[in-house]
Amino acid sequence: SDSVAKEPPMHIVHIAVEMAPIAKVGGLGDVVTSLSRAVQDLGHNVEVILPKYDCLNLSNVMDLHYQQSFTWGGTEIKVWFGKVEDLPVYFLEPQNGMFWVGCVYGKNDESRFGFFCHSALEFLLQKGSSPDIIHCHDWSSAPVAWLYKEQYALNGLGNGRVVFTIHNLEFGAHHIGKAMAHCDKATTVSDTYSKEVAGHGAIAPHYFKFHGIRNGIDPDIWDPYTDNFIPVHYTSENVVEGKSAAKKALQQMLGLQQTDTPIVGIISRLTVQKGIHLIKHAIYRTLERNGQVVLLGSAPDPRIQGDFTNLASRLHGEYHGRVKLCLTYDEPLSHLIYAGADFILVPSIFEPCGLTQLIAMRYGSIPIVRKTGGLYDTVFDVDDDKYRAQAQGLEPNGFSFEGADSSSVDYALDRAISTFYDARDWFNSLCKRVMEQDWSWNRPALDYMELYHSARKN
Ligand code: ADP
Repeated sequence: SDSVAKEPPMHIVHIAVEMAPIAKVGGLGDVVTSLSRAVQDLGHNVEVILPKYDCLNLSNVMDLHYQQSFTWGGTEIKVWFGKVEDLPVYFLEPQNGMFWVGCVYGKNDESRFGFFCHSALEFLLQKGSSPDIIHCHDWSSAPVAWLYKEQYALNGLGNGRVVFTIHNLEFGAHHIGKAMAHCDKATTVSDTYSKEVAGHGAIAPHYFKFHGIRNGIDPDIWDPYTDNFIPVHYTSENVVEGKSAAKKALQQMLGLQQTDTPIVGIISRLTVQKGIHLIKHAIYRTLERNGQVVLLGSAPDPRIQGDFTNLASRLHGEYHGRVKLCLTYDEPLSHLIYAGADFILVPSIFEPCGLTQLIAMRYGSIPIVRKTGGLYDTVFDVDDDKYRAQAQGLEPNGFSFEGADSSSVDYALDRAISTFYDARDWFNSLCKRVMEQDWSWNRPALDYMELYHSARKN
C-alpha cells in the first residue's frame, strides 16, 4: 500500500445511476459516494457521471451549473456540473426528457439506462477525457463495459480499463453476463458473496478476474458525534448516555412507551431477499419478550407494501405503544433508529454485503444477522465466532444464526434480548466495542487501488 500512495494519481470515472445522498435507493448509492471519497482521500482524481433526474435532491449539490451540451441519440444532452460530498459530479440531462419521470427506477429502466451509458461514454469522448479506470456498477451501468471495449476504446477514448462491480446479482443477469465478459476486472461487495455466486452462469466463466472486496461506510456521513438527526452527540466514550437520549427521542417521536426496554430496529427495503417472513416472526418474538420494535421500510412491490400496512394496523392496535412500523423511506428517521435502537436485525436470505449492520455498529447498536454473504464476513457471534473473529484481529460483535426458519431467528434474538435484561454491563461494553471497530473504507479502498493497478497491468 505504501507504493500505491507514492504513484502518480489515477484518474477514475464512475458511471452509475445512484449516488447518495442525492439519488439513493439502496446500498449501491452509498457505495458510489463513499468508495469515491475514500479513493479521492488517497490522492486520486475521482469523478462521477450520473443522470440528471428531475427527482435529484439538489440541496446536497454544491455550485451546480450548466457546463456544455452535445448531441447524441437524436437529442440534445445538457451537461451540468456540481459537487456532492466534495466529489466532482457530471449530470447528463437528455432534452428528450427521459429522466424527467419522477423516480430513479420504475419507468422503462432498460432503455433509459442503456441510453445513459452510451451518452456517458460519448461525453467522455467529446470532452477529450481519458480516464485510467472506468468503473461501472450493476446491471444498470453494465452496458458501459462492452460499449467501451467494442466501440469507444477503438474510437479514441484512450486506453482505459473497465472495472465492473456487482452489488446485487439478482437483477439483470443478462446485462451482468455481458459486462463480466468485457470488463478487465470485476468485483463484488464481500468475499463470502463472491464465493456464493461463483457457480452462477454469469460469473463462472469469468471467475479468474472476479474479486470480493467488502464495502465500507463513510465515517463522516455516518457519525454519531456530528449527526444532526440525533439529540445528543456521542462517541464510544459516552455511548450509554448518547444512546439513551436517542432512545427517548425515538420513543417519543413514534409514540412508544418511555421505558428502558430493549428496542429491536429494522431498516430495510421490504423484499423477499431481506427475509420478510423472518422479520415478521422477530417482531412477534420481541414483543413476547417485552421488547419494543421499530421497523422502517418500504416495499417496491405493492402487494408486500399492502401486506405490511395491514400488519401495521393490527400491531399498532394489539401492542399499542410497543411497536411502530414506518412504511416509508425516511433518511433522518433512519439515523435516529440506528442511534436509539439497542439491536438492528438483518435476517436476509442472501446479502451481497449489507450496510445496515455496519451503520448499526458505528452507532453502537448490536447487529443480529443471518449468516450469509457480507453479513457473515462482518458480524461475529459473541458465543460462536470467537476464533473466526480473532483470525481477523477482531473481537466478536453481535449475534447471528444460520437457518431461515423461526427457531433459527429465535436462537440469536433470544440470546440478544437476554443479554440486555440479564447482563447489562456486559451489553454496554459490547456497544462500546462495536463502535470502536473500523468498518470504514480505510482497508477496502486500498484493496480497490490494488485492483485498479492490477487492471492497468493487463
Ligand atoms: P440494499 O442495497 O439491498 O437495500 P444495504 O444494506 O446495502 O441494502 O443498504 C441499505 C441502505 O438503505 C442503508 O443505508 C439503509 O440505511 C438504507 N435504507 C433502507 N431502507 C430505508 C428506509 N426505509 N428509509 C431510510 N433508509 C433506508
